[in-house]
Amino acid sequence: MTSPALRLGVVGSANVDVVVRCVALPRPGETIVGSDPIRLPGGKAANQAAALAALGVDTTLIACVGTDEAGDWLLGNLEQRCVRTSLMQRSEVPTGTAFITVDERGENIIVVARGANACLTVDDITFDDFDVVLAQMEVDASIVDAVALRARRLILNVAPAREVAPETLARCAVVIANEHEAERLTIADLAHCVVTLGAKGAVHYAHGVEVARVAPPTVTVVDTVGAGDVFCAAYAAQFASGASPLDALAFAVTAGALATQALGAQGALPTTEEVVACQSRV
Ligand code: ADP
Repeated sequence: MTSPALRLGVVGSANVDVVVRCVALPRPGETIVGSDPIRLPGGKAANQAAALAALGVDTTLIACVGTDEAGDWLLGNLEQRCVRTSLMQRSEVPTGTAFITVDERGENIIVVARGANACLTVDDITFDDFDVVLAQMEVDASIVDAVALRARRLILNVAPAREVAPETLARCAVVIANEHEAERLTIADLAHCVVTLGAKGAVHYAHGVEVARVAPPTVTVVDTVGAGDVFCAAYAAQFASGASPLDALAFAVTAGALATQALGAQGALPTTEEVVACQSRV
């Protein structure tokens, strides 16, 4: 269970996702007609913050959006989901936007315009207020390096896959990667590394030695987008409350699986009660 007294900070990206469905993805130079566009809140940090808040954790998002209507819309969504927005930043640069085209088979093309996410600064943030800070790689590496220096305990989700300074990785309490992102890591060098395995669940390595492995419950998968973000949030909540590696992993794997049951990155954010109820059914 998570303790309401804990405070978590999430540092990273907040985007608008514009999704268009089509029969087949266009080739270079080709123009095709797609479905009506759908606008969804996204960005890994915003997704993870919303997932933490849904789990009942006191969560503050540190991200940057534009002074435009999209920025207002994202802030409104975060507030509606009970994420604290007092440390959110606004920039004259437009709000970050991901243009996502998905075909009938679920294949996609994604172009991310980072926009205001590139303007995020953490110079004036006091990280001491947070029991745990959760960060990802959708903002400048220098931001992640600075957070690693100043956060009391940092969980770094190395997504999307990018080079991370070894000193930064060494400062992380836990590094979370999916199988593809893990290929860039030397897991034996990390004190704690959690690798998610999609439908196969996740595994926890301590100094390269497997200490826990958990498979997900059986779920009816609708959309796996955002499952990794819910996993990271759930793991961070458990880590902050002092759960054992196995308990934290089991909770996060179940939360990730529950997140696959609806469309969109923030479409199926489980509560702590829902995760616990699902675990007790297995
Ligand atoms: P990412 O979305 O970051 O690539 P994964 O695909 O490894 O991450 O999934 C993260 C977590 O989401 C998994 O550990 C699992 O808990 C859950 N998950 C993802 N795909 C499925 C699936 N097909 N069935 C059940 N759970 C899933």
